[in-house]
Amino acid sequence: MDSTPTVPPAIRIRDLVKQYAASGKAPGKLALQGVSFDVPQGQIFGLLGPNGAGKSTLINTLAGLVMKTSGSVEIWGHDIDRDRRNAKASIGIVPQEIVFDPFFTPIEVLENQAGLYGVPKALRRSMDLLRAVHLEDKAKAYARTLSGGMKRRLLIAKALVHNPPIIVLDEPTAGVDVELRRQLWELVSHLNKEEGVTVVLTTHYLEEAEELCERIAIINHGQLIANKPTRELVDMAREKIVVLTLDRDVPAAPQHPAFRKSVISGERQVEVTYDKDQMNAGEVLALVQGQGYAIVDVSTREADLEDVFVTLTSEPAQAA
Ligand code: ADP
Repeated sequence: MDSTPTVPPAIRIRDLVKQYAASGKAPGKLALQGVSFDVPQGQIFGLLGPNGAGKSTLINTLAGLVMKTSGSVEIWGHDIDRDRRNAKASIGIVPQEIVFDPFFTPIEVLENQAGLYGVPKALRRSMDLLRAVHLEDKAKAYARTLSGGMKRRLLIAKALVHNPPIIVLDEPTAGVDVELRRQLWELVSHLNKEEGVTVVLTTHYLEEAEELCERIAIINHGQLIANKPTRELVDMAREKIVVLTLDRDVPAAPQHPAFRKSVISGERQVEVTYDKDQMNAGEVLALVQGQGYAIVDVSTREADLEDVFVTLTSEPAQAA
């Protein structure tokens, strides 16, 4: 799909604020504090954040399940306030919770959903969708006989019934085993690459975001703290950490302007963080020894997306 800057975004969010209503004496939670970002067309876009960050509030606003306090949202060019019907038709939401009537079969689940969305019989493609999620042989089985993985795949098919150009998956692989996670990743990639569906997914698995998403936005405490191509975010993990065991406990960790950080991390143990483009572990050791510390053991580790995430989400909120 064309990704030149002239292509309008699949989703455009500006200054989105959600304050939940107060209950009793508890003040209403300010779950989104003025969030702005675009989801480009044709991408798999990851929305990452710790628990309580505001991810579900944002997704539910897109789905029309949460009424925003202020700000604007356009879905496929349709404003959710002014053009609710077209906005809704442009997006398919795959919820986290699996809820099916146990006595409906997958084909019935899809046909009912098509009915709800007013998809004319001639345009329905329930069997094609079941094929796409590898459930064609279960078309007429009762939903209660499906495995957890099959139900998740059925949920994805259900979200696609009205042919939306955008699909949103809320924690698609939370609590699923490694094999099923792989299967779901393949399915999501296939929908994106072969069917051209723009995908937004929330996850707290960094590995999932790194593997699947072209771009990642991170929210924390209702604020956007990063919004970058995945590659750039991973490149922020330029830091390396050297763990030094010393011959005795020391009152303070060795400090040097070239170190990013240096802290006492345990008994006789110091951790020095440095930029691997600027220096190497040998130079760190020499600087530490030069200050009179006696080193008896050394190990190093690379920072990864996890460290970037922890660093970003532990800092006070700042502009993305
Ligand atoms: P996430 O999906 O990132 O875990 P949520 O959007 O569920 O975060 O929650 C963001 C904040 O809003 C949390 O502090 C949560 O307790 C609060 N919250 C979520 N839903 C409601 C609600 N219906 N009423 C009041 N507060 C809510």
